[in-house]
Amino acid sequence: MVDDMLRTPRAVRDAERFTAHNYHPLPVVISSAEGAWLTDVDGRRYLDCLAGYSALNFGHRHPQLIAAAHAQLDRLTLTSRAFVHDQFADFCRELAQLCGKDLVLPMNTGAEAVETGIKVARKWGYQVKGVPAGQANIVVAEGNFHGRTTTIVSFSTDEDARADFGPYTPGFTVVPYGDLAALAAAIDENTVAVLLEPIQGEQGVVVPPEGYLPGVRAVCTERNVLFVADEIQSGLGRTGATFACDQDGVVPDMYLLGKALGGGIVPVSAVAANADVLGVLKPGQHGSTFGGNPLACAVAVEVVRLLATGEFQRRSAELGERLHAGLGGLIGKGLVAVRGRGLWAGLDIDPALMTGRQACERLMERGVLAKDTHGSTLRLAPPLVITAEEIDHAVAQLAAVLAG
Ligand SMILES: *Cc1c(COP(=O)(O)O)cnc(C)c1O
Repeated sequence: MVDDMLRTPRAVRDAERFTAHNYHPLPVVISSAEGAWLTDVDGRRYLDCLAGYSALNFGHRHPQLIAAAHAQLDRLTLTSRAFVHDQFADFCRELAQLCGKDLVLPMNTGAEAVETGIKVARKWGYQVKGVPAGQANIVVAEGNFHGRTTTIVSFSTDEDARADFGPYTPGFTVVPYGDLAALAAAIDENTVAVLLEPIQGEQGVVVPPEGYLPGVRAVCTERNVLFVADEIQSGLGRTGATFACDQDGVVPDMYLLGKALGGGIVPVSAVAANADVLGVLKPGQHGSTFGGNPLACAVAVEVVRLLATGEFQRRSAELGERLHAGLGGLIGKGLVAVRGRGLWAGLDIDPALMTGRQACERLMERGVLAKDTHGSTLRLAPPLVITAEEIDHAVAQLAAVLAG
């Protein structure tokens, strides 16, 4: 304990003294960053292999995004949606085009995008599908992570996320992830939506079996149910495509976006869908004071433009192969399984060796920052600007940690 106190930087202890302990951060205090690299208060550099849970897909302080933010700060930052501002239309049009949808609805955090998706699906269910009042249900998957609001944790299967936060919001049916028959069986005449992550990030970058997402698409179409894809972590280049759904040839009825949409600068989230779905909302029925604000739109439209070049999706696909080849070489040498796509990997460390937390602490000592999820599972999600050499460096450090 005393040893621990001495080794823990003072800023870490101060932070613990004055905040709720809803996180257990690594004992590192960051003061600046650029690209894929972080620098701490003592000038030590770390390779970022978490990228703010994919909020930093374009790296820290991408010049084009920072320039857009600076320029917007000097002109206009907030109007509320009571007035229209000059950054709004371009952002909404370009994001809708990127998604191949008619409309978008901007919000701030990922959880708000999920809440928006749930509200829209329910209203669509009552007004378009003809579900009897108060009877709508939504099918979700075991192991899901969709955010932290009271409604969202109501259908979480993670006891830490859920326990003692009830009473829970009804109207959700949980089925095993990846089991198409179970999903089809859970749908009834009052089902308005299936809400899924195309790859489950927090669960440990769990990729569903081949054919699952196309199967979900087909069942949803056949049963007149909306397929809502939570691409908040998987989308916007992370898996080597604009959307993880693209890689399975699947187009959902609704995309939920967040994290990287704000370029690592401001929280920006959005729902994208066609007019027959998002068009159910009328004035006064949903909103957000900060949603779609000028600063958010100025940054996010540049995010959309970066993605429209395809460069980041390509980098993620190509460098992802290198990352997965490197990690695959560690199976049997401390790793028992590696999953994922593009620059996104979930690693199961042999639990006899160390916990995920211990692995992260040892990686930190070697200048690589990553985050454990559950037990001995690690998640790697570096910024998409990372280079081949930096990937090799990260894999080498992990190999050294596993070798003890
Ligand atoms: C992070 C995340 C959310 C919640 O986003 P917040 O911005 O933290 O509210 C929702 N869904 C998925 C898949 C996520 O990874």
